[in-house]
Amino acid sequence: MKIRAYAVKQPGARLEPTIIERADSLSPFEVDVKVEYCGICHSDVHLIDNDWGISQYPLVPGHEIIGIVQRLGEQATHLKIGQRVGIGWQSNSCFHCEWCASGWENLCPHEEATCVGRPGGFAEHCIVDSRFAFPVPDGIPPEQAAPLLCAGITVFSPLVEWRMTAANRVGVIGIGGLGHLALQFARAMGCEVTAFSHSPEKETEALQMGAHQFVCLQDDEYEKKYRRSLDFLISTVYRPLDWKRFLQMLRPRGTLCFVGAPGETFNFSPAHLLEGHKVICASTIGGRRRIQQMLQFARLHQIQAKVELVPLSRINQAIDVVRQGAARYRMVLKMVF
Ligand code: NAP
Ligand code: ZN
Repeated sequence: MKIRAYAVKQPGARLEPTIIERADSLSPFEVDVKVEYCGICHSDVHLIDNDWGISQYPLVPGHEIIGIVQRLGEQATHLKIGQRVGIGWQSNSCFHCEWCASGWENLCPHEEATCVGRPGGFAEHCIVDSRFAFPVPDGIPPEQAAPLLCAGITVFSPLVEWRMTAANRVGVIGIGGLGHLALQFARAMGCEVTAFSHSPEKETEALQMGAHQFVCLQDDEYEKKYRRSLDFLISTVYRPLDWKRFLQMLRPRGTLCFVGAPGETFNFSPAHLLEGHKVICASTIGGRRRIQQMLQFARLHQIQAKVELVPLSRINQAIDVVRQGAARYRMVLKMVF
């Protein structure tokens, strides 16, 4: 079969229309999804630019995919033709290892990414293992569901794993695609929520999205005011910041969790952790069980991704906006070829 798609041919290049050739037949667990919407995650830009050294060209990015099931392999019996599903960063795992067996498929040594070494969601169709295609609950508009599949699960999972509740104070650093959903999830979990941003003009929206406080990182006084005030800080930024200042804002036994990946080495001493038994950790996406739970939570608590819909004719302009860190808050492609 021939699939229309958008691909980059070399690092940092523009996306160009292309045709992907693929066998007509599906393997037993595969699903063929006709893509309706695909979010543009900052990870797509990292892949286009080969920031992580894992990109394979030609590269068809896209891993916040919403679409309709068109065809099913003979063993993909849990989905139905015509059903709306979402596909995120991960498209396969071994299903047998200790990590898969305990709901941590995202840690499987054989995990496969949706748009690394295979065509992702900037395409007419996406074909993946059906066990990584998740039914979208009724009540979530499809274009708003798209960002949940990567940005949503990436911030929901650590908040759940570190057991954030109404007794906890959560800070979110960087209010972009991931950050604006983190504010909403943490608020819906009952936490006291503080937004940390370089962009003072985001204050009103951050407060509307669930923050109790908004801290502008250009204001030098914030560190004194918020010293020892937070239990959990989740960082979504991809540039180095003065992490020592953020550690000082943690309460004893507080945790600084990285979901964004600034490519830098840390420059602080263990002494910054000793005082107050502080913890630094990281988290990537989430397992299948957690994704299903996140989608139900988003429906129940009306988590609303703030989406700017983009026609395919503006795909390269949209990538540039995301590359500049200027999306408000998630650009989502409407996949009409
Ligand atoms: P995004 O929408 O572009 O948002 C990033 C935010 O970072 C911006 O909104 C901005 O927030 C802040 N920012 C921009 N430029 C900055 C600069 N020069 N210095 C400091 N902060 C800056 O990106 P995203 O899609 O949320 O992704 C964020 C990061 O998470 C990316 O590195 C992505 O690869 C990573 N990610 C990780 C996972 C995972 O599994 N761990 C999953 C998805 C994405 P303010 O204006 O509020 O400061
Ligand atoms: Zn992503």
